[in-house]
Amino acid sequence: MISMKELCAGALMASAIGLGAFPAQAAQADTAGSPDAAYMDYPHYSGDDLGLTVKDNTAIFRLWAPKADGVQLRFYRNGRGGAPMRTIDMTRSDAGTWTVQLSPVPYGEYYTFQVRQNGNLLQETPGVWAKAVGVNGQRAAVIDMVSTNPEGWAADRGPALKHINDAVIYEMHHRDFSIHPNSGIVNKGKFLAMTEDGTVTPLGDKTGIDHLKELGVTHVHILPSYDYTSVDEANLPANTYNWGYDPQNYNAPEGSYSTNPDDPAARVKEMKQMVKALHDAGIGVVMDVVYNHTARNDDSNFSLTAPGYYYRHRPDGSYSDASGCGNETASDRPQMSDFIVNSVKYWAKEYHIDGLRFDLMAIHDTATMNRVAAALKEINPDIFVYGEGWTAGDSPLPVERRALKENVAKMEGIAVFSDDLRDAVKGHYSNAADRGFATGKPGQEETVKIGIVASTAHPQVDYSKGSNSTFPYASSPTQIINYVSCHDDLTLTDKLTKSMPGSTPEERKRAARLAQTIVFTSQGTPFMFAGEEVFRDKKGVHNSYCSPDSINAIDWNLKHANADQFDYYRQLIALRKAHPAFRMTSADDIARNIRFDRTEGSNLVSYSILNHANGDEWKEIKLVFNGSDDSRQVNIPKGDWLVVAQDGRLNHTGLENPDGSKLHIRGGRTEVTPRSALILAR
Ligand code: CA
Repeated sequence: MISMKELCAGALMASAIGLGAFPAQAAQADTAGSPDAAYMDYPHYSGDDLGLTVKDNTAIFRLWAPKADGVQLRFYRNGRGGAPMRTIDMTRSDAGTWTVQLSPVPYGEYYTFQVRQNGNLLQETPGVWAKAVGVNGQRAAVIDMVSTNPEGWAADRGPALKHINDAVIYEMHHRDFSIHPNSGIVNKGKFLAMTEDGTVTPLGDKTGIDHLKELGVTHVHILPSYDYTSVDEANLPANTYNWGYDPQNYNAPEGSYSTNPDDPAARVKEMKQMVKALHDAGIGVVMDVVYNHTARNDDSNFSLTAPGYYYRHRPDGSYSDASGCGNETASDRPQMSDFIVNSVKYWAKEYHIDGLRFDLMAIHDTATMNRVAAALKEINPDIFVYGEGWTAGDSPLPVERRALKENVAKMEGIAVFSDDLRDAVKGHYSNAADRGFATGKPGQEETVKIGIVASTAHPQVDYSKGSNSTFPYASSPTQIINYVSCHDDLTLTDKLTKSMPGSTPEERKRAARLAQTIVFTSQGTPFMFAGEEVFRDKKGVHNSYCSPDSINAIDWNLKHANADQFDYYRQLIALRKAHPAFRMTSADDIARNIRFDRTEGSNLVSYSILNHANGDEWKEIKLVFNGSDDSRQVNIPKGDWLVVAQDGRLNHTGLENPDGSKLHIRGGRTEVTPRSALILAR
């Protein structure tokens, strides 16, 4: 059994424990005196053929178990139960590895490794490199990977992308997205849900992949889809739900998302079919990866092959716990660093994954993250990487080596979530009643400006007034992910309900539109939580990692009820995609082309994007955000302006007059209604 604590993974991810949080910490990664110093002597195996490699008609098994006295490889007929069909002693090989070759390849069989160390037999394990597994991931499986490729796989490509900030990222959970009876989807909660065309709600609105195409997002970010422990794959009718931040086998897909968890090839094949269907629709796939901890401690696959090595420890020898989930891995050790790098390479090559999102990335060292980015760019220059630039607890890894958001300038090609813009716009993530700029809390203007310039240096932004970070930590806008909600914490809908007591749904929808308008027009890369475009909620549950479908499922009939909201989001995404001015790629461009206006009073930010920024057809775009309860007057320079957004409405080609002509204004004193964005262009 795994404990509640281990299941908590994900619950703490929004805890921004960043730079300067641990002033007295005597950080000591693997230095003398640390219980981890012993691991410095371990041999490093740098080959990429750990686990099972098939060459011609031979299966080559290789396990890194440097302190083992012996290793046995056992074969089984089934994914669980039954006695071994045969047991083979492995032979000591290079750099702490053990190997054996078999011919012919034992396709269809299952296998485990069993390490003997210091005279003790450890539990059987599929190893850390199982690419196919039986039900519940207890045994690895020998399958023909080529046979899992969908038709047309060789020619399959994700969307071309010049820069990460050309992406519009949609964060979704397989089960949330398709499980509701209203989804009209057959393969509910499965990878295959994404392969179904033409699905609609009972009211006739598009769902599934057609909904994504209609909305216009460029990438879906799928919550953990590698094999995790918390859902019993052998008892799916029990209908359990989990986010999946409890990793077990990092290199095989999760079985509960397949139509048959007992068939090791099904999950591999169906995940590839999902990727292919999304690619065919022009949508990329970002995978959420959680290398920072494992669900289990002493009996994880890491611990059963090289006990201790893959984790960081406290001076008393106990597991250090920067993940808040019972342990933290040690990317600063060569074999763990290689594991992460080779694992992401594998997903990119075998599954054509277009992006990686690193959970609690600051548990990893910047050097490993730089290796990750470089290795992926070699496979496909369009792949991008972003992560949570914080930890959920202290770590022995020195602060300056952590992949913190404040260290992102040391990580070219990596982006971090901006909790600065997030908390400034909607209010603090963990204080439900706290409001933000968009809901009338004063004093957030400078932090909103920090978000608009994507945490890059700008002569008109005073970072000393930032409510989270107080210096321009990003060297480029391509290093920032902007958002106002994700799977963690309250949905935007619930946050607005809790922080705006007494408000009407219309008032909350207005606030949501303003909040997302700030996100989608800011420099950096926009990111949204699935279902916000139909104003979904989670009934006020902030940590829904194991809540039932009644909390997590998106009720797609909301799309009809909130058609105006959906249309606004669709227009907002179209606006961003049509205008490179919102997607500048250098800090210098931003400093040169963005000019903030002086405004009176709180909850008002006004600025222009000038000079046909980044090749935009519009010479100047004027954006005014009014987060207050009152209408405000601003001075717009005299001239002919196309009105793109006003009073809670937005059309990316310009709002229309009743006669169908485009709405223009002449500037001068102009009213900006409460909780709305005014966007003008000329
Ligand atoms: Ca599983």
